[in-house]
Amino acid sequence: MPAPRSIPLTVLPLGEQRYGCHGCGDCCRDFTVQLRERDLERLRAQGWERELGEVTVEFRGRRYLRQREDGGCVFLRADGKCRIHAEHGFAAKPVACQLFPFTFAPDARSAKVGISFACASVLANRGPGLASHLGELRRMAGEIDELAPSRTLLDARTEAAPEEADAAADVLDRWLSDSAVPFAFRVDGVAWLGQQLAGASFAKVRGARLRELLETLVGALPDELPLHPIAPATRAQLATLRQASFFRLEDPKIGDLARLGRLRATVGQFLRSRAFSRGRGAMPAMGDRWPSADFGAVDRVAPLSGSADRAECEELLVRWMRATVLGGRAWGSGFYGWPVVDGLQALSLNAACAGWLARAHAAASERPAPSLEDVRAAVGRVDRTSGRAPWLGSRAERMRLAWLRIDDGLRRVAWAQFSGAAEG
Ligand code: SF4
Repeated sequence: MPAPRSIPLTVLPLGEQRYGCHGCGDCCRDFTVQLRERDLERLRAQGWERELGEVTVEFRGRRYLRQREDGGCVFLRADGKCRIHAEHGFAAKPVACQLFPFTFAPDARSAKVGISFACASVLANRGPGLASHLGELRRMAGEIDELAPSRTLLDARTEAAPEEADAAADVLDRWLSDSAVPFAFRVDGVAWLGQQLAGASFAKVRGARLRELLETLVGALPDELPLHPIAPATRAQLATLRQASFFRLEDPKIGDLARLGRLRATVGQFLRSRAFSRGRGAMPAMGDRWPSADFGAVDRVAPLSGSADRAECEELLVRWMRATVLGGRAWGSGFYGWPVVDGLQALSLNAACAGWLARAHAAASERPAPSLEDVRAAVGRVDRTSGRAPWLGSRAERMRLAWLRIDDGLRRVAWAQFSGAAEG
């Protein structure tokens, strides 16, 4: 497929979101950087081997930057700066490093520029407006050969025109940003829509009629939701939520996978996943970037409605969900190629997982309710894997969503984190 180097870019239309790199180096400690052929050529030309030895590793047919024992990139200096950047300039780094925390999600017409909340500056909303990065983003888009037009589906079989997918994003965004509606109801509305639209066919509702239908559905939410009160989540639903949260935390380093071998790594993951499902005793260790707590202590942490930082936490959660939708990361090429309807369900589950992980993070510091620090940590972890970790686009994740759609599960597990009782 020819590389569409002139594909137009649409920068995330979220005026309140800002970003500038503040040099924390967290991304260089936390991510495994996959390399393109162009990156490998640059690294060879820079001649690092003489000083650093092998700077890349191969794993399952792909090449990555080598990581040190502590998980940090081989190029990360003690002062937190990138050595390639310092010695050869920003544009000499691997493209993935240059692009982070921005993301590209192409559709049939253009590529949406989204932003990752795995970045501390994005979470804290620090830096200039996003449009100020457009020149650099255009240059980077020209370096990504695989950035090609991509189709988006509305349901399992109906391909969306870009305007139709945009209409869905626009209507959903207006619901998420409606400050007259309490935050927990806004998340509930997303879960309700995800459940109601499951299995629907949009084949005969196209163009302006699709927008009309979505506007009618969303416009009815304030009257409709109170007619369908939410029961407490069942134990089985909460077990599924904990398991889904586990898979949003898990992201083994390739060095560990190579060291342990596929069988031991798989068995270890299975045992940790089972411990999260059971939800008893101490949470298994999830690496040095996530604190461990007792599952019982997590259950005792209040939902977000009990937080002293409630307004700031809700602002962050809304900004994150809106950035996900408007930045093309809720469905289509930005989310495993999933249809809009399935993406809605995943968005609702992601929010619920962020809520539960915020309570887990609070429990580790013995806080009675999640603080802004806890919500930042949770959103950062969920957004880090969402749309990126292959297992969250897998059949197993779809089965989790299918199970949670039954019996109001998506609504119940989300409500438990943001407003209602935490246990059924
Ligand atoms: S190459 Fe530089 S920017 Fe990329 S991960 Fe390593 S230290 Fe960070």
